[in-house]
Amino acid sequence: MASNSNGSSANGFKLPEIKFTKLFINGRFSDAISGNTLETRDPRTGNVITSVAAGDKEDVNLAVKAAREAFDHGKWPRMSGYERGRIMTRFADLIEQNVDELAALESLDAGKLFFLTKIVDIKASADALRYFAGAADKVHGETVKIAGEFQGYTLREPIGVVGHIIPWNFPSIMFFSKVSPALAAGCTMVVKPAEQTPLTALFYAHLAKQAGIPDGVLNVVTGFGSTAGAAIASHMDVDKVSFTGSTAVGRLIMEAAARSNLKAVSLELGGKSPLIIFDDADVDMAVDIARTATFFNKGEVCMAGSRVYVQEGIYDQFVKKIAESMKNWKVGDPFDPHVHQGPQVDKKQYEKVLEYIEHGNREGATLLTGGKPCSEQGYYIEPTIFVDVKEDMLIAQDEIFGPVMSLMKFKTIEEAIEKANNTKYGLAAGIVSKDLNIANRMSRSIRAGTIWINCYLVLDTDCPFGGYKMSGFGKDNSMHALEKYFQTKTVVTPIYNSPWL
Ligand code: ADP
Repeated sequence: MASNSNGSSANGFKLPEIKFTKLFINGRFSDAISGNTLETRDPRTGNVITSVAAGDKEDVNLAVKAAREAFDHGKWPRMSGYERGRIMTRFADLIEQNVDELAALESLDAGKLFFLTKIVDIKASADALRYFAGAADKVHGETVKIAGEFQGYTLREPIGVVGHIIPWNFPSIMFFSKVSPALAAGCTMVVKPAEQTPLTALFYAHLAKQAGIPDGVLNVVTGFGSTAGAAIASHMDVDKVSFTGSTAVGRLIMEAAARSNLKAVSLELGGKSPLIIFDDADVDMAVDIARTATFFNKGEVCMAGSRVYVQEGIYDQFVKKIAESMKNWKVGDPFDPHVHQGPQVDKKQYEKVLEYIEHGNREGATLLTGGKPCSEQGYYIEPTIFVDVKEDMLIAQDEIFGPVMSLMKFKTIEEAIEKANNTKYGLAAGIVSKDLNIANRMSRSIRAGTIWINCYLVLDTDCPFGGYKMSGFGKDNSMHALEKYFQTKTVVTPIYNSPWL
């Protein structure tokens, strides 16, 4: 199925050379102070791609020091928003000039489909930079009418040094959904990519320098979560942490912030989103939406709609059609343009997904499709659909983060609302119905940050993105995201009749 990590892929695709493997601090690539490295692996084979510097607390200290200096004394926070925007636009241009290499690195490191990564992930990364570049010079304070002979106004000031902690499922998109608004606001930052997928972040550091982002503004420390990540979360000189990842680690980050300097925190965490298909839906369209909702990016999507509820009138027809449709679903090398689903990101995630499938079997759910690994090497898993799933089963409650769908039946709209909300998470939900009244009622009744009606996973930099409930707080994307990187200062001054004058 796949080939070796070095050289070419199954369909003759020439794999990229790995150019950047060191920490990027204060505009220079350097080894970790400890000299430690971590191995990043090709999920198509399990083979090591390369070793990357494993930064820890001491390296984070250096990176924060550089970011602090750049914030307190450097030109980035002080230059005009227009000028920052120009540099960010140049950064976006450089990303587009390197799109093939970046997408290939992402496929190699994370098992993501090469052709989709080019037009989705890398494009969205450049788009995010341009969106926030355009916003950088449109930030205003307010004038405040104060009782008495005073006038007041507010200043919108960058929050300071930001730590961004990034997950492995969308390494590029997550990098830029956090870095772009922070750059536009005039913040300086330390980015820690996930240990499974460090390669594109280092490439982006190189491009940032080429684009003209001053030294110290954007630092990248590769390393493990419990060392480098934890050091960022507890650092006394980091003013804000923006995190995307698991709910368990989100909790640790809040704790670390509370115990250190009470830094601002925003968290985008797990999900177990419902997709609710009503009797009046076009069944073929519903099948298509359900496949995208669960299996896109091999199910490694925090917004995956993997709890699929189908109304009883079309349930049997839906089950038959989705089972039939999965026969054409191709799992294989992510460089092959005919493939729908690549390998899971690493051995740990692969084993975790297989354990959930095993659990589903033990709990009495019935496999409609898949349920097994499907390659001799690498981390490939068949797209798996369970029927006869009960609400309280682990597969219906836990975020599996893999290609596993739980199919369930419902009768009434009231029951659909109750089931949709029967989760600790609240990231997203999907509704498939031609009835506007149903769609409107469902949209208002579900406690989740994004609702898709007759579509799924449609995202844009202009759409606020983030959770309700235990899926976190603080939005990425849109002007809401920009707000996270500012703080507001009130300035008051007496006017002509004031007793102070
Ligand atoms: P997953 O469980 O899906 O791998 P994680 O939440 O563990 O997701 O990881 C998301 C990001 O959080 C990664 O960059 C990881 O290194 C980082 N991370 C993990 N543990 C910690 C921690 N204790 N403190 C800070 N960051 C962490």
